[in-house]
Amino acid sequence: MNRSNPIKHVRVTPIAFRDGPLLNASGIHEPWALRAIVELETADGRVGLSETYGDEPMLRALDAARPLVLGLSPFDLNAMEERVRASIRPASGAVEFTLAPGSHSAKNAAKVTSALEVAMLDLQGQLLGAPVVDLLGGAVRSSVAYSAYLFYKYAEHVDKPYAPDAWGEGLSPEQIVAQARRMVDLYGFQSIKLKGGVFEPAHEIATMRALRAAFPTLPLRLDPNANWSLATSIAAAEELDELLEYYEDPTPTLEGMAALSRHSKVPLATNMVVTTMEEFRANVHAGGARIVLSDHHYWGGLRATQALARMCEVFGLGMSMHSNSHLGISLMAMTHVAAAVPNIAYACDTHYPWQEEEVVAGGRIAFDNGAVAVPGRPGLGVELDREQLARLHEQYLACGVRNRNDLAQMRKYDPAFSGANPRF
Ligand SMILES: [Mg+2]
Repeated sequence: MNRSNPIKHVRVTPIAFRDGPLLNASGIHEPWALRAIVELETADGRVGLSETYGDEPMLRALDAARPLVLGLSPFDLNAMEERVRASIRPASGAVEFTLAPGSHSAKNAAKVTSALEVAMLDLQGQLLGAPVVDLLGGAVRSSVAYSAYLFYKYAEHVDKPYAPDAWGEGLSPEQIVAQARRMVDLYGFQSIKLKGGVFEPAHEIATMRALRAAFPTLPLRLDPNANWSLATSIAAAEELDELLEYYEDPTPTLEGMAALSRHSKVPLATNMVVTTMEEFRANVHAGGARIVLSDHHYWGGLRATQALARMCEVFGLGMSMHSNSHLGISLMAMTHVAAAVPNIAYACDTHYPWQEEEVVAGGRIAFDNGAVAVPGRPGLGVELDREQLARLHEQYLACGVRNRNDLAQMRKYDPAFSGANPRF
């Protein structure tokens, strides 16, 4: 084992940042989104960074992982993974969202591995003078394309915890087209995704038709987050076939997706029924989703994402990338790995345009024509703005949110909201 320049300190800082009143199948985003910023510091004072989930069970898992990485060289990734696999267990008591696999405590080992791996790769890159993408085999593209990720939304949060965001209300097809126009104008995105599963399918299909009319050349996606029954999804497929690039998780369960696939001309994509290699195998067997949405935060890291990409290639599946609310350290990690994966053939998802705050020095990361340039600087290519980190940690302490709960938040607007799934 490599003992040079061992990791001497592990710091985990939970943060909270403002997040919009974005609607989804589970309910609505709370006014504060949580993340954890992980710092691994070596004996010579270098700091490797990563960003991951900030809910309480994840913070406990990261705390348990602290002794596992102390004393390891940043190059000891396999030893770190073995230790994490042997020690980190699923937790109980968390609110788990089927629509957000990152909330599943069954994935604790993979999530912790990812958080540590990214920070160790950042350190490796700093030690070698190489960007993380080079440690992954080098870039196959100089920038990574992201999609405009649209949400139905209210103009402001219940209880008005702070001034409303600049996006306004997004409920009607016309308002969603205006939201898309603003996002495309600001960032240059070349693909559009709508988070669905919120309203009656006819309303969401009408929204997709309005987007198609407004953006005749941009690929479109719709993600109802398994909130449509199989029958509803089959009925909608006929209308959506001509509109969509891919049809993302309309209906629950692998069996449902497999049954639907026989009625859909466009490929089905998923970040819900393929979230582990066991599910990957089952999906291949069942012939369900044709596109896997990867996410290094719960798949076990950047190298695990590369392995997943190879498996997609072996089994003839497409690959794209899923996201949750995140800041710039995650965006950089996503960009490095997506730049190193030849078969990510679709623009990746990102919630980044919905965030206003940042912890990286220099502030918000720029998009050019909807893409993020792969940094050439050593490691991830970002450093912490410690003042901002402290400020966002203060927000965490003050905000009161400790576990994401979109359902409870929605009941503040509508006490009768069932949250039943599938609802349509
Ligand atoms: Mg999805």
